[in-house]
Amino acid sequence: MSGNKSRLKAIQEITSAKPFETEMTQPLKKIWACDVFGLHQMEESLSKSAFKAIKKTVQSGAVLEPSTADIVAAAMKDWAMSKGAKFFSHIFYPMTNATAEKHDGFIITNSDGTCITEFTGSLLIKGEPDGSSFPNGSLRMTNAARGYTAWDPTSPPYMMHTANGAVLMIPSVFMSWTGEALDKKIPLLRSNSAMDSAAQKVLKLMGETDIATLNSSCGAEQEYFLIDENFANARPDLLLAGRTLFGAPLSKGQQFDDHYFGAIPERVQVFMQDFEDKLYRLGIPAKTHHNEVAPGQFEIAPYFESANVAADHQQLLMTMMKITAKKHGFLCLLHEKPFAGINGSGKHVNWSVGNATQGNLLDPGHTPHENLNFLLFCGAVIRGVHKFGPLLRAVIASAANDHRLGANEAPPAILSVYLGTQLEKVFDDIKTGALHVPTSGGLMDLGLSQILQFERDPGDRNRTSPFAFTGNRFEFRAVGSSQSVSGPLVAMNTMLADSLEWIAGKLEAALSNNSNETEAVFAVLKELMEEHGNVIFGGDGYSPEWHKTAVEERGLQNIPTTADALPVLKTQEVIDLFSRTGVFTPLELASRFEVYAEQYVLSIEVEAKLVIEMATTMIFPAAISYLSSIASTGLTLEYSPPGAVAETASAMMASVEQLSEAIALDHFDTIEEHMNFLAKDVCGLMLDARASADKLETLVADDLWPLPKYREMLFIK
Ligand code: ADP
Ligand code: MG
Repeated sequence: MSGNKSRLKAIQEITSAKPFETEMTQPLKKIWACDVFGLHQMEESLSKSAFKAIKKTVQSGAVLEPSTADIVAAAMKDWAMSKGAKFFSHIFYPMTNATAEKHDGFIITNSDGTCITEFTGSLLIKGEPDGSSFPNGSLRMTNAARGYTAWDPTSPPYMMHTANGAVLMIPSVFMSWTGEALDKKIPLLRSNSAMDSAAQKVLKLMGETDIATLNSSCGAEQEYFLIDENFANARPDLLLAGRTLFGAPLSKGQQFDDHYFGAIPERVQVFMQDFEDKLYRLGIPAKTHHNEVAPGQFEIAPYFESANVAADHQQLLMTMMKITAKKHGFLCLLHEKPFAGINGSGKHVNWSVGNATQGNLLDPGHTPHENLNFLLFCGAVIRGVHKFGPLLRAVIASAANDHRLGANEAPPAILSVYLGTQLEKVFDDIKTGALHVPTSGGLMDLGLSQILQFERDPGDRNRTSPFAFTGNRFEFRAVGSSQSVSGPLVAMNTMLADSLEWIAGKLEAALSNNSNETEAVFAVLKELMEEHGNVIFGGDGYSPEWHKTAVEERGLQNIPTTADALPVLKTQEVIDLFSRTGVFTPLELASRFEVYAEQYVLSIEVEAKLVIEMATTMIFPAAISYLSSIASTGLTLEYSPPGAVAETASAMMASVEQLSEAIALDHFDTIEEHMNFLAKDVCGLMLDARASADKLETLVADDLWPLPKYREMLFIK
């Protein structure tokens, strides 16, 4: 069924839609992490010595001995099989935003026709998917295409259940035979080590003697839309591009603010409860959920975890969300801008660094000494965002996120840092020297822990800033809802590592000049602020004045599209940053540019083709039906829409024709040139076609219109 028939049927179906109820009577304690083979499970099923060995690997990344791996693998298999698994899979995180898996059976057959099961340490540690079809950005020649996966023991294996069984999933890295990272996990692990080693240097200089490994943490707030699947099925654009390429704006949108934090529709709440029950079983700490700003839009935020585990959990959360939504008769849209004219979806990435001995280093401490550590780490972030703002823009670049950034609903495409009034003043005073350092050599209590307390009140937050300090962490707000959090985390960890190295160098020199600790810290921070303080901005990030001053007076970059942002990955500064921190080799970095650029080209081309197809085969015919139905009455009316309809339909088809010609062009010298052409010309033509189509939607008789309308899709009953 297609066209207006399926739209009309969807409208009928939705009136009788009922919440999909599942049986969920188990208490939290009983289900929490019951599908995870974590330390707790390992302790239960392993000998004391094997457990001690694996615990060391899990907690500090120490090498897993083959003999221990065999024991762990056997226990893991028994556990998984007792829960109904017959297969296992290394799950990995290729350079797309998706996950990848290849399932293998535990089964081995005997010569007498019977079977046994087997899962050895080497199978656990290493898998060999035929990786030739994953994007690798020229990192592998096809004759050496095989990549391999290896378990990341710091991220626990878990069970994925379906109606007919279960699979043991093993979070893994994915690399080429020559050792290049082909995924998003290896760089994240490397960036964490780089940050750790730089932070160790600074803390040692600050007189710390007992310093545990530092880890970055991440708490991601995920926004999404839910659409009844009857409507979604009648919209090829939603199914294939994840967003509406056509659709007249709502007459009642989000302007009444009646959806945000409002009562959650029952059907949605039932979905959320089912979904969160699944997350708990997988050990994902779902913590908050609520309606978001736009109608049909919601948010879920799990509690923060170590960045590596949080990144794996984020991917799993997106997968579970889509699967569970389907069960409840919804299509879950993770696209950054599914509907024009109302807010799109983002993913705030809350990020901090800390360890077991010094605690959270972005939390102002309780003692003057802790405050100094805090100021140094906070200063390191300020320097990082100033120096590598364009890189932060590049790692969140996608065709979809371009619709949000700078559209006055999400942070602008200019990277600045919001500190809050109190902390901004502290840094300003350090810069001007107004913050007085006692000459007696005693430590001065900056009293930050008190003055910063009230910054934690969300009411005081600046929502227009892309990078905001929120009391004990930074929140990177420009990340897109469908994106993996790994890219942003890698960029943040790496820029922090770079800044901490710089600070360590300066601090060492200052301390050897005989100044006391406080004086040395202030001297370093003063220099840092003089060079990088320009990135701090507490005003309205959406205002046109900021767009002007940021660029003209502050020297910050405004990078509006992915076509402008991705080439940042090819700049010498960024190549050097990643090489010296050991996060990406130049070759690995070049491959990322290539893969992301190709993804951009592909996604715009897919959308352009869909625009052409839908305009030609759905919208134009609807306009013609309407015209012919009027013509068939033989009436001449004083009010005459046919003229407008005919004219608008012709204008739409003219844009469609231009669009067809534009995407047929293939004479580009470089992929940069191709991306620019798509960003400017092709996107512009798609918008032209859409403008005519959306006008037709307001002219053509409602019962002839083929596509579910915004007002029908967005208000969930
Ligand atoms: P808001 O909507 O006010 O930004 P939420 O409570 O929705 O806040 O989300 C805040 C997120 O920040 C949660 O995921 C929370 O666990 C996370 N978070 C809190 N402390 C830290 C930290 N030290 N490091 C990383 N994330 C953190
Ligand atoms: Mg937030």
